[in-house]
Amino acid sequence: MSEPVLTIVVPCYNEEEVLPETIRQLRELREQLVRERLISEYSALLFVDDGSRDATWTIIYKASLHYPEVKGVKLAHNAGHQNALLAGLFSAKTRSDCIISIDADLQDDVSVIRQFVQKFHEGYEIVYGVRNRRDTDTFFKRHTAQGFYRMMKAMGVHLIYNHADYRLMSRRAVEELERFEEANLFLRGIVPLLGFRSTVVYYDRKERLAGETKYPLKKMISFALDGITSFSVTPIRFISMIGLVSFFVSLLFGAYFLFLKWTGHTQTGWTSLITSIWLLGGLQLIAFGLIGEYIGKIYKETKRRPRYIVDLDLFNLPLPRSSSFH
Ligand code: UDP
Ligand code: MG
Repeated sequence: MSEPVLTIVVPCYNEEEVLPETIRQLRELREQLVRERLISEYSALLFVDDGSRDATWTIIYKASLHYPEVKGVKLAHNAGHQNALLAGLFSAKTRSDCIISIDADLQDDVSVIRQFVQKFHEGYEIVYGVRNRRDTDTFFKRHTAQGFYRMMKAMGVHLIYNHADYRLMSRRAVEELERFEEANLFLRGIVPLLGFRSTVVYYDRKERLAGETKYPLKKMISFALDGITSFSVTPIRFISMIGLVSFFVSLLFGAYFLFLKWTGHTQTGWTSLITSIWLLGGLQLIAFGLIGEYIGKIYKETKRRPRYIVDLDLFNLPLPRSSSFH
């Protein structure tokens, strides 16, 4: 068997600070793997610029002029991490036997890529990178992430614990992935559903090399909610928030009214009435909000909008027009 063609897909959003180093490390690793005959010399690095507002695209473009193995896809707007990843996977698909996705910030140990490829040689079609520890994350992120995994598990969603989007997929797996046409694809939930022969490789996750996280708290919460309902509509979410607040407020008030009652300050019947109004009101709003979340999801799906828009794809440039055309 000749060596497999590997494409490494890297979604990048405002990563100018770290990108030159990422390109350097990935090129070096690719070079080694080619020399060791683990991957074909046609293997490429594909950087997807997810509508960055800094010099990210300039860096990618210049690198692609210097090094033939560096390719770039430029998205027309910020489509988000998951969609940028999809754009990369689908662009790379026809030219690769296997594809590895990795973040641009070098948090994931690039040397693990060698193990990924070895597993591919052993016949695995999906290889998940799983972090050993999360101690480079903040206390807060670690615990919220853990809670998220538990909640998903309780709801019957199969996720690989402590696996982010660092993984290898065979071309066949990516082709099957393309058939999942959901507007908001939650890759971590979908990939295990493919069901191909898969395995896990453990690694230590490091600190971000430079720049700051593109997942601030707000995005984290929304990412988690999307994982559950696959999509949402903000005003409806707002309703459930109000519901949640009034539910808790009602508990406080309930306690207060009970206190008043026991100390003999109220008329008969008032306490139970006022408490149940607040309590039920809160619960109803939460329920509305939850139903709304699912309706929002349907709304989003029925529109069938494109998940991302490619501005320029240096990996699949159209062939020059034939000279017979006159
Ligand atoms: N990213 C992206 N589009 C976005 C947000 C993030 O392509 O809208 C990329 C980002 O450049 C990085 C990866 O997704 O390569 C993961 O983001 P980040 O490292 O900020 O997330 P964290 O590791 O903090 O969860
Ligand atoms: Mg990161």
